[in-house]
Amino acid sequence: MTSRAERRHPAVEQRCGWCHAAPGEPCTNRRNGPRREPHPSRRDAWVVAHTDCTTCPAQAGIPCTTEGGTPMTGVHPERAQAADDTYATALENASRNVKGRPR
Ligand SMILES: [Zn+2]
Ligand SMILES: [Zn+2]
Repeated sequence: MTSRAERRHPAVEQRCGWCHAAPGEPCTNRRNGPRREPHPSRRDAWVVAHTDCTTCPAQAGIPCTTEGGTPMTGVHPERAQAADDTYATALENASRNVKGRPR
């Protein structure tokens, strides 16, 4: 089961505001049990917490805003992309630095 934990999306370190999954717990569907992917709003919260936005002035920890300066629902796609890229790079580096782990 460790391999599954390693591939866990870092968004699960936050509590999910959608299904109220506790930090570290996977998101759940009401009918189907655990989801493989975190809820979009949980991903957005993770993106907001760790990544600056290139589209609007929002920095890490600050939600995206529209042109008028009103907080928007979700995040700019560029911000989500940047967060995913950073995560993918970190994951790559991490697996490269671990010696003797079978792939
Ligand atoms: Zn959830
Ligand atoms: Zn933004």
